[in-house]
Amino acid sequence: IIIGDHIVKSFGEVDEQRNVLDGVSAYINEGEFVAVMGPSGSGKSTLMFALSGTDGVNSGKVVFDSKDLSAASENELSDIRRIKMGFVFQQPTMLRNLNILDNIILPSMRGNRKNAAEISEKARALMKRVGIAELEKRDITQVSGGQLQRAGICRALMNRPKIIFGDEPTGALNSKSAQEIMDIFSEINADGTAIMLVTHDAKVAARTERIMFMRDGKIVSELKLPKFDGTDMDGRVEKVTKKMW
Ligand code: ATP
Ligand code: MG
Repeated sequence: IIIGDHIVKSFGEVDEQRNVLDGVSAYINEGEFVAVMGPSGSGKSTLMFALSGTDGVNSGKVVFDSKDLSAASENELSDIRRIKMGFVFQQPTMLRNLNILDNIILPSMRGNRKNAAEISEKARALMKRVGIAELEKRDITQVSGGQLQRAGICRALMNRPKIIFGDEPTGALNSKSAQEIMDIFSEINADGTAIMLVTHDAKVAARTERIMFMRDGKIVSELKLPKFDGTDMDGRVEKVTKKMW
């Protein structure tokens, strides 16, 4: 669903230029569940922003769903991101003066107010699915981190995206909540949605089927695992941990 070909990305002045992405090539297949690991500063988030067309690149090419993102206009890019992609971060950015349900539907309501009832129904179905159905009227300050993250996932799923990008989506959660969030991602993936997660956590990465390891702006190795079926978690984590060093 995505092909990144020899992507180079740098920030800052030409004379002190260091390539944050140093000619990296990466792909994600339709419906695939992948993770990106690597030391802090190795370029994981930058790669995610490049592959999602959120940030432009200095050279190289990104093709999403047969569309060359490097040649797309800002409008086209923002439409693609809004309609075909979902984003989940360490902590969801939500408006404090709106309740959980309103925060989830807000992006879908833009220019679409006449479908408000339908949009709310869709949000309620998603909330039920991730186990926060009873929290729709709750203030965002009155829910736990795990519940807030579930709301963030609902928001990302509203448009039935083809791919979800998650940058440390479990980074702010305790390990129990993190595993519950991973259960939700596994379910979403089982429905055919591709998922790309950036994570430091071997237990999170072990739930995916391919892990790319980055170092200094390059993918230096890769680990493939069978699709997770709920078994052999310890063996999977061990494989990931071995490969990390
Ligand atoms: P972490 O695990 O800490 O999140 P990461 O692998 O996601 O790290 P990136 O955020 O991709 O790392 O950053 C890679 C490098 O690019 C870092 O050295 C960072 O300082 C630099 N960088 C990222 N964004 C910018 C920016 N907007 N301007 C300048 N430098 C940047
Ligand atoms: Mg990062």
